[in-house]
Amino acid sequence: MSDINVEEIIDSLSGEALCKYCRYGIDYDCNGGIRSDGSGNPIYPPCTDGLDEDYFDLDAYLADMVEA
Ligand SMILES: [Zn+2]
Repeated sequence: MSDINVEEIIDSLSGEALCKYCRYGIDYDCNGGIRSDGSGNPIYPPCTDGLDEDYFDLDAYLADMVEA
């Protein structure tokens, strides 16, 4: 049980800060920026439009909060 509202955390973060905790980076080369697919077509990182809770690395976020 926890009273942490992940959605609220995600809403409070934006862009690069959010991407720091996005799990897409694990199996997707996500650095928060738009990259090319090699044919001139832009590929937007999945976290551009905000993260789904499932892709938010809450553990990493909380660890940073503890250190801060
Ligand atoms: Zn990302």
